[in-house]
Amino acid sequence: VSARVLDGKALAARVRAEVAAQVTALAARGVVPGLAVVLVGDDPASQIYVRNKGKAAVDAGIRAVDHHYPASVTQAELLDLVVRLNADPSIHGILVQLPLPAHVDALAVQDAVAPTKDVDGFHPENLGLLAQGRPRYISATPRGCMRLLRESGARLAGAHAVVVGRSNIVGKPMAMLLTNESATVELCHSRTADLAGEVARADVVVAAVGKAGLVRGAWIKPGAVVIDVGINRGADGKLHGDVDYAAAAERAAAITPVPGGVGPMTIACLLENTLESAKRFVT
Ligand code: NAD
Repeated sequence: VSARVLDGKALAARVRAEVAAQVTALAARGVVPGLAVVLVGDDPASQIYVRNKGKAAVDAGIRAVDHHYPASVTQAELLDLVVRLNADPSIHGILVQLPLPAHVDALAVQDAVAPTKDVDGFHPENLGLLAQGRPRYISATPRGCMRLLRESGARLAGAHAVVVGRSNIVGKPMAMLLTNESATVELCHSRTADLAGEVARADVVVAAVGKAGLVRGAWIKPGAVVIDVGINRGADGKLHGDVDYAAAAERAAAITPVPGGVGPMTIACLLENTLESAKRFVT
């Protein structure tokens, strides 16, 4: 049996088209959603992510405003920028691309972003609202994963879900979202004693680790749905997920590819968050 491939690229195209239509309608009412994109330094991966997000925003009719600083920027300069963006009525979403240089306190910068403009969903207020089951902004990557799960047709209520990776931007919010959908959730991480055993019981597996092929195909319970968040550049120059795709696809009911799964959905969901923010400003 071969898994159904969850085509994130195609789903993202649909979501982006929906966003573009709603942006047009909003613009007719005099509001053009504005997204500020803050990039620090010359990390090649960050530059690609920021370029892709900016291009997707513009394609959807969102005004993207780039703020690119050298790696030598001070924390005070970044905080100044955030204060100005918070006060700018033409800006509805603020995105600070991570990682920031080591001399900058990334959490302090994230905390400074107005929670109402935090379209990345990283602010503690937004994570807290999500934990209480009344989300304002859901981080784009976990939001995209949930959308892919919905598309898969997987029944989440009562399902046994295993999330591998406990980062604040993917693993933890993912575990909260699945809990809010009434799945029984296990959050695994680098100190988990028996990862293979935990994954083997899962009806839904979400891998967000950053280690190519860490989740072995043989661990996957036949019929499980597998969402692979990992983006790892291999020695072959290609991108690989955290799941051993070929072997997992032989057992899973549905699986996301890398590339072309979660990645495009992350961008689409960022646009959705920005649109929702702009709508809140008019109502
Ligand atoms: P992170 O480095 O912040 O966290 C990694 C997590 O993996 C940690 O919680 C750690 O405990 C866990 N871990 C490490 N080794 C492990 C092991 N051997 N067994 C079990 N758990 C282990 O990573 P992150 O920011 O959450 O990103 C994870 C991956 O997802 C990366 O590859 C990243 O590039 C990718 N990512 C993709 C998107 C996207 O849009 N597709 C977005 C964000 C992150």
